[in-house]
Amino acid sequence: MAFKLTPLPYADTALAPVISAETLSFHHGKHHQTYIDKANAAIEGTDLADKSLEEVIVAARGANQGLFNNAAQSWNHGFYWHSMAAESTTASDELVAMINNAFGSVDELKTKLADRGVGHFASGWVWLAEKGGKLSIEETHDGDTLADSGFNPLLVIDVWEHAYYLDHQNKRPAYLDAVIGTKLNWAFASENLARGTTWSYPA
Ligand code: MN
Repeated sequence: MAFKLTPLPYADTALAPVISAETLSFHHGKHHQTYIDKANAAIEGTDLADKSLEEVIVAARGANQGLFNNAAQSWNHGFYWHSMAAESTTASDELVAMINNAFGSVDELKTKLADRGVGHFASGWVWLAEKGGKLSIEETHDGDTLADSGFNPLLVIDVWEHAYYLDHQNKRPAYLDAVIGTKLNWAFASENLARGTTWSYPA
């Protein structure tokens, strides 16, 4: 069963001007689609062909770097689209309490997420994640993922240049401030926390 490109959970104009329809046309329509196509091509005719994307990631990690990169990037992008919302969203009481405990306040968390994203060298991902009842900010480099890490990812931000270059050029801090300030999907984060198990890529 081939993996599919997850539809955007909003119109392609919904995140503008933070993330334009033009960026989404390339980032979702080209970059994410290519990761999906390459992952599908790599598993076609193998015993991984009927596995979930999460199972493919586990099987490929440390064993097949090319497949791992494409499978993990497919997962990360599906998770990233859901980590943003067009409308303002609200964190659950449970999530707010855990954020206050771990970071002091939601505003402090937002500042730290932006700092980690700005400081992340080259391409990668910045995550808000939960493990053992505690929240933390995690970073993964290049195509690496938290999908099979033992963390429960709550939100992710793509800090590859292709995520922001058309809209913000080299100004990664401007992209991060705008996404973190206005577009993060706190309802999605709350759902992930409440479920208590890692999000599954849609079949
Ligand atoms: Mn990307």
